[in-house]
Amino acid sequence: MIDIHSHVPTHREHVPHDELVVNDKWRPDRPVAATTTWADYAEAFADVEVSAAFTIARNRRKVDPALNDAVAAFVADAPTRRIGFLSIHPEVDGALDELERARASLGLSGIKLGPNYQVFDPLGDAALRVYELAERYGLPILFHQGASPVQDAPLRYAHPLLMDEIAIRFPELRVVMAHMGHPWQRETIVTIRKHPHVYADISALFYRPWSFYEALRLATEWGALDKLLFGSDFPIATPTETAAGLRRVNDPIEGTKFPPVPLEKVEELIERDPLPLLGLERPS
Ligand SMILES: [Zn+2]
Repeated sequence: MIDIHSHVPTHREHVPHDELVVNDKWRPDRPVAATTTWADYAEAFADVEVSAAFTIARNRRKVDPALNDAVAAFVADAPTRRIGFLSIHPEVDGALDELERARASLGLSGIKLGPNYQVFDPLGDAALRVYELAERYGLPILFHQGASPVQDAPLRYAHPLLMDEIAIRFPELRVVMAHMGHPWQRETIVTIRKHPHVYADISALFYRPWSFYEALRLATEWGALDKLLFGSDFPIATPTETAAGLRRVNDPIEGTKFPPVPLEKVEELIERDPLPLLGLERPS
């Protein structure tokens, strides 16, 4: 199992009591501990061969090298099992230099962007310069897509159809659309099916069982199941519960005549190796 979507823990060792954050808006079924440690991550990823881990550069005033340094340090703790993605805010001075440093000096091999959280136009000039460089260097970009409970994060910057525009301009760029663009899974499916190098991850979806079933069923009918990648969005969910949720995708239609999602395709999704698809080397 390879997990393409996970967040670097907030704390290296223990979380001081006054820094504990529990978020009850991320999942409808249970609260999520937003503060995690390296040990929490290692425990949750015990059965995962390789995972991609990242944070999001939300500072809109200046580059934040410490953020990419922290990702590199976390990867160095289990270098054969982790891949680090860098993050930059495209609109701050020195963003491309920081991208260059994080790639060349820190060895980070992909990019994580959340245009809604970072509040930048995904089709603006600054963002396009990042995609151009990413395409040239072969760095895949994983974009947050779709809903977020964060009030000041503009939803319009997380709409999946923007990815179609990006892929038209940068056809060799490898893209992962997070969360199948929830709740715009249809828009995500029509985008990934037409662009050979655009994929979507299924992270953070299974606990909304009807939309999850519907999304995977739509992907079945539109021939897009093979473009879906396994991801957990840890700490929002663990890889183990995500795999279990995938295997229960047909639960909502049990006893009905609704067509099932083919379970052999679900197993293929869980076992899919996204690394060659995204031009990433397996860490060694
Ligand atoms: Zn995430």
